[in-house]
Amino acid sequence: TDAAKLDAAKKTIAGTYKTDSERSFVMIKPDGVSRQLVGKIVSRFEERGYKLVAIKTVTPSEDLAKEHYSDLAARPFYPGLVKYITSGTPVVAMVWEGKDVIKQGRRIVGATNPLDADPGSVRGQYAVSVGRNLIHASDSFEAATKEIGLWFKQAELSDYEPVAWPWVMA
Ligand code: ADP
Repeated sequence: TDAAKLDAAKKTIAGTYKTDSERSFVMIKPDGVSRQLVGKIVSRFEERGYKLVAIKTVTPSEDLAKEHYSDLAARPFYPGLVKYITSGTPVVAMVWEGKDVIKQGRRIVGATNPLDADPGSVRGQYAVSVGRNLIHASDSFEAATKEIGLWFKQAELSDYEPVAWPWVMA
């Protein structure tokens, strides 16, 4: 079977294949979609070897945006943030899986303020304003769990194993 072949490949090709992986919620915000950066952003996660578990466009309601950013409700920029996310232009909601994907996802995304973001990061390469910083990625396991549950139904999360994983995850 394919599963048996994959098991064999894990052992013979990659040696100490590790299955410990985690999931992160990543969202391309409306500016990223409108600026047609979706492919470039998806590629950063894909080329690193992470597994795409779910992807969809969503035009978020105010309730969804508010719930997603509920931790920031007291911040002065919160109303503007909710307006930005509910601009009417869709976002691309994704779940990515792999080793350390939460921490690595934050590195791929870059610091909140593009001025502080590493130039190799998404924000560091493409954004100039903290209020239009293109992308979101969960900042902890707890946040990822909340956000994946908020944006996706269980049935929307795919279960498969990329052929590259025995190499990527060793
Ligand atoms: P991150 O998205 O890097 O996890 P935060 O959780 O602190 O950062 O903030 C959530 C989002 O709120 C940011 O990505 C950004 O879109 C917006 N934001 C944060 N700080 C500001 C600010 N000072 N002015 C405007 N928008 C902000």
